[in-house]
Amino acid sequence: MLVTPLTKLLNIRVPLVQGGMQWVGLPQLAAAVSNAGGLGILTALTQPNPEALRSAIRETRKLTSKSFGVNITLLPSINPPDYEGYARVSVEEGVRIFETAGNNPGPLIKFFKSKDCIVIHKCTTIRHAKSAARLGVDCLSIDGFECAGHPGEEDIGGLVLLARAAQELNIPYIASGGIADGRGLAASMALGACGANMGSRFMCTVESPIHQNIKDKIIASTEQDTIHIFRTLNNTARVFKNAVSKEVVATEHRPGGAKFEDVRHLVSGARGKVVYESGDPDYGIWSAGISIGLINDCPTCEELVSRIEREAEEVIDRLAKLKVDNKEKAKL
Ligand code: NAD
Repeated sequence: MLVTPLTKLLNIRVPLVQGGMQWVGLPQLAAAVSNAGGLGILTALTQPNPEALRSAIRETRKLTSKSFGVNITLLPSINPPDYEGYARVSVEEGVRIFETAGNNPGPLIKFFKSKDCIVIHKCTTIRHAKSAARLGVDCLSIDGFECAGHPGEEDIGGLVLLARAAQELNIPYIASGGIADGRGLAASMALGACGANMGSRFMCTVESPIHQNIKDKIIASTEQDTIHIFRTLNNTARVFKNAVSKEVVATEHRPGGAKFEDVRHLVSGARGKVVYESGDPDYGIWSAGISIGLINDCPTCEELVSRIEREAEEVIDRLAKLKVDNKEKAKL
């Protein structure tokens, strides 16, 4: 068993968090991850309004007796969401664990801390991690450039970012971006993390509420099948490489560049949602990390979480055996 500051903080068996995922973080997945021993997370903005989130929290409670969290991500949106409403309803419903991410999270973090909640803040720079730590978050989720969705604008891969976190942070942190197996979890811990966050890997599980065609597409894809959109709009997002995302990038690079309005019809989340419902991978934009290159099957969350736990333990045992004392060394 792996006992870390994360397993103790969240009272979970395996140090794995299922991060927020727009249109994917629904009750059936969050509950399955929590039941499997990790931390499942509902994505607030996937619900059309705070009252719908209230129902989703109640539905999740029917599916698991374990704790689960709620993600609230603050990024530019076509229709500005009622962040405060989502936060208030979650607290009213007794949710005690929150994943925050995105721009200007201060007020939200302060609100959750004033209600004695546990906050895991996801960020992509050490600068932002330190400000969140000063605001009193309990844990950071250090999101490397490998990640799906928004990696920020500084392009630092997890290997360096996590080692920097080890040098600079005084509170626990988990690794996020590029992790899909036990090797990734063990590597995260070697870099000082107390666990790992996974998104794309949980998208391709039996309980993930997306069309089987998209799961099959993830399995068939490699680490070369993602692309960054919105780089020129200062809102970079790593998404699956398809006709639509390539058109967005081409539009951004045309002479004179592009404004958000020029690509809005291509990128809207409403259109991306249809990808997951219809199973047409080319219909719109959908988030995917380069970890899709590591995903070759579609297990249940229980199978996946147990497998990653076992693999990580095997890696740790193997590494421990590399260490020999002088007497043993002389015999080699
Ligand atoms: P949406 O339809 O509002 O926007 C689609 C995409 O365009 C998003 O990536 C958004 O950030 C971006 N965008 C919107 N307005 C923009 C602008 N003026 N300039 C630059 N980029 C702009 O998004 P949605 O799919 O309905 O999602 C709602 C919110 O949730 C967005 O802010 C989105 O970024 C965020 N999100 C959350 C998660 C998560 O895991 N919680 C994952 C992906 C996206």
